[in-house]
Amino acid sequence: MKIIVQKFGGTSVSTHQRREMVADKVLDAIKRGYKPVVVVSAIGRKGDPYATDTLLSLLDNEKTYLEKREYDILMSCGEIISCVVLSEVLSKRGLKVRVLTGGQAGIVTNDNFGNAEILRIDTNRIINTINDGYIPVVAGFQGMTQSGEITTLGRGGSDITGTALGAALKADFVEIYTDVDGIMTADPRIVSNAHLIETMSYNEVFQFADQGAKVIHPRAVEYAMKSNIPVYIKNTMSDSRGTLITISRENIGRIITGITHMSSRTQISIEYDESCQNADDIFEVLANNKISIDLINVFPDYRVFTVNSKQEESVIKILEMLKIKYKVVSNCSKIAVIGNGMRGTPGIMAKILKALKERNIKVLQTADSHTTIWCLVKEEDTESAIKALHEAFDL
Ligand code: ADP
Ligand code: MG
Repeated sequence: MKIIVQKFGGTSVSTHQRREMVADKVLDAIKRGYKPVVVVSAIGRKGDPYATDTLLSLLDNEKTYLEKREYDILMSCGEIISCVVLSEVLSKRGLKVRVLTGGQAGIVTNDNFGNAEILRIDTNRIINTINDGYIPVVAGFQGMTQSGEITTLGRGGSDITGTALGAALKADFVEIYTDVDGIMTADPRIVSNAHLIETMSYNEVFQFADQGAKVIHPRAVEYAMKSNIPVYIKNTMSDSRGTLITISRENIGRIITGITHMSSRTQISIEYDESCQNADDIFEVLANNKISIDLINVFPDYRVFTVNSKQEESVIKILEMLKIKYKVVSNCSKIAVIGNGMRGTPGIMAKILKALKERNIKVLQTADSHTTIWCLVKEEDTESAIKALHEAFDL
């Protein structure tokens, strides 16, 4: 049986007209000889009646009165509603459909509510549904614990449902449908002439996703990579061929693949001298407080790192408590220049710094790995930095 998984994001199911386009994609898969398994996200974006953020806004956002378990029950409703509404359109087009919640689809998770991990997928129900002649329409972003508790997989988690189901069902491939033509050299909302990247390695896409390009969830890439299943990122609203994500495509001639960013970062520098015992412990204390840090540089007389701005206050409290001298730069943005081909290529950092300098953008810090160079800039410089680098590397 040739199964494919087709996952449709929130904007793809936000209007009746778009749901008709979704139906076109499902019918097209059948025409191509596949048995589609459909995965859907909640309808629309914040402000739309049943989007996840709208559901959350029904609760008191100042203070938490409920347990995380209850939040997951609320959040799981958006995808269920979306499945039923889409299924009506599919049925009208003559398709036999069966709506399944995450739990009904056999997705078994741990009980880490709000960010649950998939332990296994029992595919029997989906397989039987297909064998009975129905198209399974599965609620994304959710699962169920062994003891029957409803869980959610973390924001953007429908992508995880898509690739994890694809892997479990040994699908020929997974299609992630969204509102752009595929993975582009930069977020098309920032760089209007960004262009489509036709093929990418799992590794590169993971870097993109992990560094802020929200077009696919990083954990979804991991699932696909582990089972080597090809993933296409495509546009529900066009016939673009999309981006094919597959095994290593390291040497196809490009040095830089694209640019992405992560905003809401805060840079913290701390003074360090050996008389200040506490400064030695800071990294351990931050870890014990579950504060994750990055862009870490250690020098003989100071240390510097960044944290998510949401944790700025907690970090300052810790530094005050430990009587460590510090400096804070709030509202920063971490720009990532990504490309498997930059390995061993000299001159990339020089080019980046030159391009940013020409636009008077102050670089607060840099870091690099084999496949990524990061530059920390002020948040207000984000757009102009991305545009400058996009142009400098002729993407
Ligand atoms: P969905 O609701 O379909 O899951 P998302 O909003 O999660 O859609 O992801 C799609 C969005 O990702 C696009 O609208 C685009 O603005 C953004 N994006 C960020 N970086 C990139 C990139 N490099 N290529 C394509 N899209 C990107
Ligand atoms: Mg998404």
